[in-house]
Amino acid sequence: MDFRGHDSRLTRAWYYSRMYHEAQVNCPYCGEEFTAFVDLSQGNHRTVEDCYVCCRPIEFLIESDGQKLHRVATFTDDESVL
Ligand SMILES: [Zn+2]
Repeated sequence: MDFRGHDSRLTRAWYYSRMYHEAQVNCPYCGEEFTAFVDLSQGNHRTVEDCYVCCRPIEFLIESDGQKLHRVATFTDDESVL
């Protein structure tokens, strides 16, 4: 097990929590609820983060006006509408 990699993820999450909006989302694969950190300054955008429980790639669809978060939707890779 690579503890160093795990630590860097935690450090990154802590850092992001100070400048990013927190959103509660559910993993579309395993259903686990967790907190995602959303960069509102990017406005409407998509991003992909691996689920920390099942490690599968979750696609996030984020709707924001740059200051407020309007919606966060999660999709599996297969559901991608890109
Ligand atoms: Zn999952």
